[in-house]
Amino acid sequence: MLRVVVLGAAAGGGVPQWNCGCEVCRKARGEHPELQSTQASIAVSSDGEHWFLVNASPDLRQQLIATPQLHPKRGALRHSPIAGVILTNGEIDAIAGLLSMREGSPFAIYGHEKVLAILRDNSIFNVLSEKNVKRVPIAINSAFEPALPDGKPSGLEILPFTVTGKGAWYLEGKAHPGGSDGAGDTLGLRVRDKATGKHFYFIAACADVTDELKSRLAGASLLFFDGTVWRDDELVVAGLGTKTGKGMGHISMSGSAGAIESLAGLDIDRKIFLHINNSNPALLEGSAERRIAEGAGWQIGADGTEIVL
Ligand SMILES: [Zn+2]
Repeated sequence: MLRVVVLGAAAGGGVPQWNCGCEVCRKARGEHPELQSTQASIAVSSDGEHWFLVNASPDLRQQLIATPQLHPKRGALRHSPIAGVILTNGEIDAIAGLLSMREGSPFAIYGHEKVLAILRDNSIFNVLSEKNVKRVPIAINSAFEPALPDGKPSGLEILPFTVTGKGAWYLEGKAHPGGSDGAGDTLGLRVRDKATGKHFYFIAACADVTDELKSRLAGASLLFFDGTVWRDDELVVAGLGTKTGKGMGHISMSGSAGAIESLAGLDIDRKIFLHINNSNPALLEGSAERRIAEGAGWQIGADGTEIVL
């Protein structure tokens, strides 16, 4: 069986974001605490005992406290069910949580060479000694089975593929430690249970739905997809920033080139938006945007959602 827990559904900054006074953030701090959401990450397991995180967000500590499946097993002085972390990009909201995983428990980090180069280039990540925490390169279009800390197979098969995106923000205008050519900065994943063949897709950052991506996703039973902004110029119009969704490497939910329209008619059983920015009005229950998204068969991701395939 394939088990998935949504640890966090929000984009970078979370909901509410520390310095934001937008409508969603204000409501999340006040009369609508149910709007609160941590930064995007999921946990996945094929045996219910050993878990792999997809990305490690800065909210990881809080997410682990809230998720009993990821607590140390009863009676063990030092233990974690987390066998590894699979990184889909090098953004802060995908890698900063690794720093909360110091303390000597063994696990493995799986990432594309470009993302591993970022970790190597930042000595603070040396707090995760390579003796306990192996860093395993993964390659585009090359399926791999992550291993458990004792070397046994996990029963999962992960296929990384490239999606349209961009390098980490903090590297803009700087030399990428992994080189500036080639893909690898933004990955989508197909996660499959080897025993049952059940699988799902995780694409938390995507700037464009190409025909290739459409044919890959057609007929999928579960898709987690980039839901950062409702409309491309949302941050600009709201006075919250100067970047467009596309400028940040994220497709919008709405519009003729948006995710809802682009992924319609692909016969995907369950579609869940993830990595939702606090500026996105679809977060608000009862909003017109929420109704449109739900009417098109999408679910607005929420922390703590559990799915079994
Ligand atoms: Zn806000």
